Order: sequence, then C-alpha cells, then structure tokens
Amino acid sequence: MILCQRLYNGMLEERKGAYTKAGKTISAYDQMKSLPEVKEALPEYLGVNAQVLQDVAKRLEKSFKGFFSRVKSGQKAGYPRFRSRDRYNSFTYPQPSQNSVTADGKHIYLPKIGNVRLKLHRPFAGKIKTLAVKREGTEWYAVLTCEMPRGEPLAQTSSSVGIDVGTTWFFVTSDGEYCKNHRLFQSSSKKLRVAQRSLARKPKKHSNRRKKARERVAKLYRKTARQRLQLHHEEARKLITKHDLICHEDLNVKGLAQGNLSKQIHDVGWGQFFQILSSKAEWAGKRVIAVDPRFTSQRCRVCGHTKRGNRASQAHFKCLSCGHTENADVNAAKNILAQGLRFVAQRISTETACHEKPRPLGLG
Ligand SMILES: [Zn+2]
Repeated sequence: MILCQRLYNGMLEERKGAYTKAGKTISAYDQMKSLPEVKEALPEYLGVNAQVLQDVAKRLEKSFKGFFSRVKSGQKAGYPRFRSRDRYNSFTYPQPSQNSVTADGKHIYLPKIGNVRLKLHRPFAGKIKTLAVKREGTEWYAVLTCEMPRGEPLAQTSSSVGIDVGTTWFFVTSDGEYCKNHRLFQSSSKKLRVAQRSLARKPKKHSNRRKKARERVAKLYRKTARQRLQLHHEEARKLITKHDLICHEDLNVKGLAQGNLSKQIHDVGWGQFFQILSSKAEWAGKRVIAVDPRFTSQRCRVCGHTKRGNRASQAHFKCLSCGHTENADVNAAKNILAQGLRFVAQRISTETACHEKPRPLGLG
C-alpha cells in the first residue's frame, strides 16, 4: 500500500514536471509502459502485482480527468494532490481470478501476497469484476465487485403505497404500517459519546493514546453506518416486494439537514434510503415516485381542507372543517399516495394523447 502511495505521488510528480517544463501531457498509458523501468530502479516493486501498479496509473488519470472536466464546466477545481499515507487507503486488482475466495469462504487469494484469512460478511454471487483491498483505520477489508445476471422482476401486486418519513418513526405507510426507527444508532451513540469524550481528554496531538481513542470513535461510526445500510436494504426490499408503486416525499434532504433537525435527519439518512429504494425498484420492475411534500401533513385527505391547525398535535390529525380524525402520519402518507397516483394518471393521459396524431385538415 505504501508502495502504491509512493508510486501515485511519483507519477503525479512526473506529470506535473513534464507539463511545467516541456508543456507535455503524459498519459496513464505512457506511465504504465514505464513500469518495468520503475521496477528495475526500485526492486521493491517487483513484489507488487503488475495489475495493481497499472491501476495506480489509472487512478491518477481518473483524478486528472475529473479535474479537467470540472475546469471545463467552470466549477471550482482542485489540482490533483499528493496523497499522504492516511489518504491512500486501498489498492485494486482490476482482473482478479474467479476463484479468489476459497470454497469455504475463509481465505482470499491476493496475487503476490498470498492467502489471507477472511471473514465473509455476506455471501456473494455472479462474476467477480474487481477486487479491492481497503484499509479503514486499523481494519482491512476486501471489496468484491460482482456482475449479477439480471434477476427476474418481482411479481406484480397491483398495490400502491405512500410513505411519510419522520423522526419518531422511520416511516409510516398509507396502509397504517409503522416502520420502527431502529434506534440501534442511539445505543451505539451512547458508546460513541463515551469514546468522543475520552478522545477530547487526550490533548497531546500525536500521542499513541490519542491515536487509539480516535480509532475507537471511527470504528463506532463505521459500525453505525453499516447497520443503517443493512436496515435500509431490508426495509426497501419489503416495500418493493409488497407494492408496485411507492410514493414518497421529494425531500430536499440537504436543505432540511441544515436546520436544527440535523442530527436526527443525518441519523436516519433518508437520502440513502430513497436511493436504495429506487435502484431496487428499477431492478424489480417496480416504480418509485417522489412527490412535492408541501402541505401533505396539513391537508385533510377527506375534504382537502388545508390548515396548520388541522394538526392537533405531533401525532393527531383533526380536520377543522369536516372533523375527520386520523393519525397525523397516516393522513400524510395517504396524501402522498394520492399525489403520486394523480401524477401517474396525468402522465398516462398525456402519453395517450400524444399517440393520437391529429388528422391533417382540408384534404378531403
Ligand atoms: Zn376534512
């Protein structure tokens, strides 16, 4: 890994030098071609897999491409930077063997490194496309990217649902189902607070104790993120199995997160959830629609009366006009569903209208 980091920095230096001195641009291809020379000069690179080294050149090219396209589109662009050891955390085998992981799932073969013990977090399937080895703090991960054969779409159920996301519940459906906001995050958050306090008590910047404390905090963060991701996958899976059409609020999550609800919103991560929901739906032949969220919590779904006062409390909805009462979140979810269905109906009517071509007039 350190060798890859040094190579990356060396190649960046080379590109920079060639440009400032001779106005020349060196491509990843050129740099790959000179790898044998690098190996000759620095024999320690003989012990590194060739593909891994080529991938370093490709990565550098990618960061240059990103830089140039940002410059072109007038965005703020930072020139590719030298990477410190802490900021170079992985290396990639672009064409790994299909038998990289042993049949019992306990070891993984890394070319030029050998068999490494492995704890498989979940089974994988499909063709292995790339294999990356990643370091997060003091933990090492092997990341496999697999190409999956396209699965059968899920059975159609002709059921539609609206979901209202919130902080008390993760979401509430128009069918009156409540999805718990698994506060696993909070239980780990207590541990996190303890760890953070202990970190704050270690003022010496480069001390070993501080390093350890910081690693504890980072580890807890990563654990929470993994748990959340898994929860999001599970809940999204349940929804698309059950329904053909799922409507949710088009939340400008970023905008909301700047307000004072920020901690909780960050905690539940709806943006990530909606993204997972959409991609699963696409794969399964289902539909997800984001609707305008304004007034969905204030409008009475029976008579349409819209007023802030309709919401008697956080949980109760009582229409000031027709007297309809319901759980406030369920009322909102039903409004979201209705809005989504209206949108679908509109789309269908304009699509059919377009198919009917007007007949030319005056030729008879
Ligand atoms: Zn009403």
